Amino acid sequence: MIKQIIFGLTLLLTLGVFAYTIWRLGKFFRFTKPYPVGDWGKRIAVFAGVGLAQTKILRRPVVGLMHALVFWGFLVITLGSVEMVIDGLTGSHRFLEVLSPVYTVIVFSGDIFAGIILVLISAFIARRLFMKIKRFYGDEMKPISKIDAYAALSIILLLMVSLLGLNMSWNQLNDQQFSNRLPVSSFLTSLFSSLPDDTVFSLHEVFWWMHILLIFIFANLLPYSKHFHVFTSLPNVLLSRLTPLGKLDHMPAMEKEVRMMMNPDQAFAATTNDAPPERFGVKDVNDVTWKNYLDALACTECGRCTSVCPANITGKKLSPRKIVMDVRARMKEKGPNLVKFGKDFEDGRSLVGDYITAEELWACTTCNACAQECPVNINQPSMIVDMRRYLVLEEAAVPSSLASMLSNIENNGAPWQYPAEEREKWMKELTR
Ligand code: SF4
Ligand code: SF4
Repeated sequence: MIKQIIFGLTLLLTLGVFAYTIWRLGKFFRFTKPYPVGDWGKRIAVFAGVGLAQTKILRRPVVGLMHALVFWGFLVITLGSVEMVIDGLTGSHRFLEVLSPVYTVIVFSGDIFAGIILVLISAFIARRLFMKIKRFYGDEMKPISKIDAYAALSIILLLMVSLLGLNMSWNQLNDQQFSNRLPVSSFLTSLFSSLPDDTVFSLHEVFWWMHILLIFIFANLLPYSKHFHVFTSLPNVLLSRLTPLGKLDHMPAMEKEVRMMMNPDQAFAATTNDAPPERFGVKDVNDVTWKNYLDALACTECGRCTSVCPANITGKKLSPRKIVMDVRARMKEKGPNLVKFGKDFEDGRSLVGDYITAEELWACTTCNACAQECPVNINQPSMIVDMRRYLVLEEAAVPSSLASMLSNIENNGAPWQYPAEEREKWMKELTR
């Protein structure tokens, strides 16, 4: 009974802190712009492919399979964690055993995945320690990002150690009769065979508490680290953009202007109800859409986008990973004050200028290689283009190479320097 009370209080504290964190982060979404979603049939297909089957990750067969196995393993092991919570609250032992033979499959695969994840996470730690993987480096990868990565990998490692320890002690306490259910743990159970039952029982309790407390701590650390993607990446994939990669969303306010330019008669059809937009493009984090912000929360900082970015590869000052991380960092800075002082709060700083420079933005070729490569379907180019739109439309800050083209479009309705009425001259010359 004491164990149940302690467990219940610990669970309550964990859920309370987690709910508070999510509520706090969720409030920041109120200050973002709308983004329409629909076509749920197509979304579910993308979710099943990119999210559950990990098709994008698997494009790199070796490392991709390693990551996918960790992901699939976590899905199975989570079922075991649900059982531990039920056991902790009710005082039962292996409550889901009532589901046999399904339960046997879950325990069997969970034990195998625990062994696989243990090996793979050790390999990931060794890779970070001893191999200089280029995509793990960059100006945006501050020491805290590295600490964050090692902390998460270490916690996952301990989670697997405690899970295998739990299975080993359970098997030993039951005279190894579950060996056929526990293919990995049964190999190691002999380590406990010389220990008295009391000691093995104590070890079982230690591993049980160690495993469940690590889960509780990990769940509450995740929202403060890049590993928040554990919660956000699947929803982000479900809500991914469905339009072809090269397609840019247009700006309704600008479309109206262009239509009036093309057909001045429409100018008189415009109504006085057409309120001017608050902002053209994105200057600060409260100009981004809620989907852009969700993208930022879902970024795993894996660097796959930057590793294929032609601008970055050719030495330009652009890293699509940094753009996404900057959106997240700026919201972390400004979000609490928006909540406190309201949507008009300004602190004299902005996403464009203080976090992201015009040089970075204009280095983008909008090739969409980053979006193609991103394993969680983040749409980096749309953020970049929206920030450029702000620079052009509100700051008139355009590289000189583009300035004449834009003024030709404004004056002549075409990128060339000839007026519209002379547009057919070349044709006449050809047919002369
Ligand atoms: S769209 Fe821009 S940021 Fe993305 S890979 Fe291409 S150049 Fe780089
Ligand atoms: S934007 Fe996507 S590809 Fe780039 S670092 Fe983040 S998760 Fe990785």
